[in-house]
This record gives sequence, C-alpha cells and structure tokens, in this order.
Amino acid sequence: MRVLLVSTPMGRLGSGRGGGVELTLTNAVAGLLARGHAVTVLAGEGSRLSADCAGAQLWCEAGADQLSWQHQDRQAPVTMPPDALLGRLWRRALAEQHRFDVLLNLAYDWLPLWLTPHTTTPLAHLVSMGSVGAAMDGVIAEIAASHPCHLAFHTAAQASDFDLLEPPILLGNGFDLRAYQFNGVPQPLLGWAGRIAPEKGLEDAAAVAARLGMPLAVWGLREDEAYAARVEAQVPAGTVQWRGFLPTAELQQALGQCAALLNTPKWNEAFGNVVVEAMACGVPVAAYARGGPGELVQEGVNGALASPDNLDALEAAARRALALPRDGCRVWVEGHASREVFSERLEHWLLSLAG
Ligand code: UDP
Repeated sequence: MRVLLVSTPMGRLGSGRGGGVELTLTNAVAGLLARGHAVTVLAGEGSRLSADCAGAQLWCEAGADQLSWQHQDRQAPVTMPPDALLGRLWRRALAEQHRFDVLLNLAYDWLPLWLTPHTTTPLAHLVSMGSVGAAMDGVIAEIAASHPCHLAFHTAAQASDFDLLEPPILLGNGFDLRAYQFNGVPQPLLGWAGRIAPEKGLEDAAAVAARLGMPLAVWGLREDEAYAARVEAQVPAGTVQWRGFLPTAELQQALGQCAALLNTPKWNEAFGNVVVEAMACGVPVAAYARGGPGELVQEGVNGALASPDNLDALEAAARRALALPRDGCRVWVEGHASREVFSERLEHWLLSLAG
C-alpha cells in the first residue's frame, strides 16, 4: 500500500504537544515500512521522524495549532484558528490523495472525520481519545453509522464512550521493544509520566507518594503550569521531582530506575502509552481501574489496580505493585504490545479499506 499518514495539528512531531499520538505515529510508520508499505507522513512544520522511520517521506505544513478538545467545555463548538495547521494539512492531503491507496488520520478533530464520505481515496481514522466533547461524539457517531470500518480505536474502554452500531475495530498499540531496556535493579523511587495537565491526575500520584514516603519522579511536558504548581504545593517539599520531557531513549532509561509507576488519569484514557513503556523496562504499574490502563494492567502480573479516584486503594495498589517480580512486566509487553503485533493489526485494517 501507499499510505498517507496525517499527523496531529498540535505542534511539530518531537515536541510532545501531540501526547501519545507522536509515539503511536512512529510505531505505525516504522511498522508499516517493515511490512513493505510506502509511507508518507504529513505533519506540522519542524517535525522530525525518528531513525527507524527514515524510509518514510515527510511533508510539512506551517500553521496555527488547534485548541485541544480535552481542555474545552464539552459543548464547545468546532473552531479553527486563523491560518489553521489542520486546514493546511487537509488541503494538502486532498490535493495529493490520488497518489495513495489509503489516508490514515491520527488527529482527534472534527474536520478529517467529517471529510470521510467525501474523499476519493479511503480515509481511515485511528481515534486517539475517548469522549471529550459533544461535537466530536456527534461526528464519530455519524461516521460509525455510515462508514464503520473507517474507524479504529485503541481499547474497548475507549470505544465504549462512543455511539457505535457495530463492534469496534480495536488495534491496541505497539512498541519497539528493542528501544526499552529491562532494569532489574530499581532505585527507591516512584515514577509518573505524561502530559502535565488536569485530566492526567498527577495530584493523586503525588499524594500517594507522600503517604509512602517515597519521591515521585515526573517526566513530561508541562502543559499547564498553574496545575503543576498546585500539585507540588499539596505535598511535602521534595516529594515531586520534575525531570522534564525526555526523548524515548532517555525516558526509558530513567523509567527503568523506578520501583513502580503510578498512572492516575481522571478521564477515560484511550490507551496509556507510558503504562506499557514502563512495563517494557520491568517497572510494575499501579493504576486506576478505568480506561486503557484498566485493560493493560493485569493484577499480580504487571501491576495492580485500584478503584478510581480512591487514594486508599491506590496506596494499597502501589504497595502490591512494589512487591511484584519485575520480569513479568516485560514478558507481558512482549506478548501483548510489540510493534510487530500492532502493525499486523494496523495493516490488516488498512488493507480492508484500500481494497
Ligand atoms: N513522553 C515522552 N517523554 C517524556 C514523557 C512522556 O516522550 O518525558 C511520551 C510518552 O512516551 C508517551 C506520551 O508522552 O508516548 C504520553 O502518552 P500517553 O498515551 O501516556 O498519554 P497522552 O499524552 O496521549 O494523553
């Protein structure tokens, strides 16, 4: 297949602004290339592809970012800033579509979903979040009714947010396990990774770290500075250790040093890349039993689950996770979330559309 993969209109690839979508894109591109397909990536200006995507073409467009749907009111209308990157990406995609067998959209935005019945090359969407706004729910329900095979999701928990008439196509996610090193000798340190924003619930992880008397190393982009300051102020000084946003090679090395990862989203997390990335390094995960992490964490195998938003339960889960053997985490990832397994599912879905 000749695949045109259209990235998120949130910053450039490599900036972290796109959250988990950036790593999903890398793994999708590298996985499709390895299976013999030709891939072109269309993304924001300044984007860079990682070395294992070197076989792909990269086209860039300049333009202003979209507002993230998860940070707006549920009833927010669909908006576009002047000189919107989203508009420019899709103008280019439509102009070039005749050169491809399938278009793959990774952006959680109304415009590409709405375009689905109107392209001449089949347009597929890997939906990257659960329900966060009525306008998105509406357009996803419309496409689910008219073009159900054009939508895929990461997990059943994510898909259950939407009004679907048919069982969802579930792709999970996949990681290049050669890029994650197993670390069997952790430090007395808890870890947390992700965009630092209210929907990620960092405050609960910080509270539990304080209860356990362990420092919490935090990796990720500080999307919301006021929120980060509030979280830090709620716990004893030194509990939260800000470690910045690291590229994958450095992140995995740092994650591997953690005794356990806490994962505490307040929303229906679509997947939870950092959960699997930590497990790949041998780090057990204590998470709330909701969304993607609730499906990824297997009690007693690769981590422990707590009833959502319950700090006592999370503290108990963290204690159980800390007591687990670390090799089971890595073994679970090898069997369930490798790039090979993911790209095979992705290929199967895209081939069914490309005809
Ligand atoms: N991440 C990173 N460097 C960091 C912290 C996080 O590259 O220092 C990446 C991480 O690899 C993951 C993404 O940020 O792919 C967060 O994705 P996740 O699915 O956990 O949440 P999202 O941001 O999509 O809600």
